[in-house]
Amino acid sequence: MEELLSSLPEKAKQNHKANKKFFAKLRKKPPKNLDVLMQDLHNETFEEIDCLTCANCCKTTGPLFTQKDVDRIAKFLKMKPKDFESKYLQTDEENDLVLQNLPCTFLGEDNKCLIYEVRPKACAEFPHTDRKKFQQISHLTLKNVAICPAASRIVEKMKEQINL
Ligand code: SF4
Ligand code: SF4
Repeated sequence: MEELLSSLPEKAKQNHKANKKFFAKLRKKPPKNLDVLMQDLHNETFEEIDCLTCANCCKTTGPLFTQKDVDRIAKFLKMKPKDFESKYLQTDEENDLVLQNLPCTFLGEDNKCLIYEVRPKACAEFPHTDRKKFQQISHLTLKNVAICPAASRIVEKMKEQINL
């Protein structure tokens, strides 16, 4: 896994132009069965890649926290939302609430999330490859292929299987 992860940024850089072009075409003319196809590719790929051997998203990027996330996680940790925010979060230059530290404070040594049941929505949905109308968020995937081996593999499979 380490080797695969370290090769991702270079691979993403090499494929960036082709991926950008592919996603532009996908946005213009998404296949009718795109939702089903993405769900299949997502399920199949996450059977091949085990997040517990990876955790690269938790180590390198971290999620955005919504106020709902903050309230839910603070309650789980028996903290006041304000105290949770000041202990773990900061506001970034785009005014979003993000982690103060990376790797994520809630990542265990076994790569398990210590707040899994109440983790931020953005964590639960990452890398968004099973989202309906995937073509609308494909710009996020352009970045995610540099950190997520599953997203990278899904995009390669898409390019093989979708004729645009
Ligand atoms: S979602 Fe992607 S980056 Fe995150 S742990 Fe799973 S395979 Fe790794
Ligand atoms: S909250 Fe959990 S799933 Fe989200 S980045 Fe931290 S360890 Fe990973």
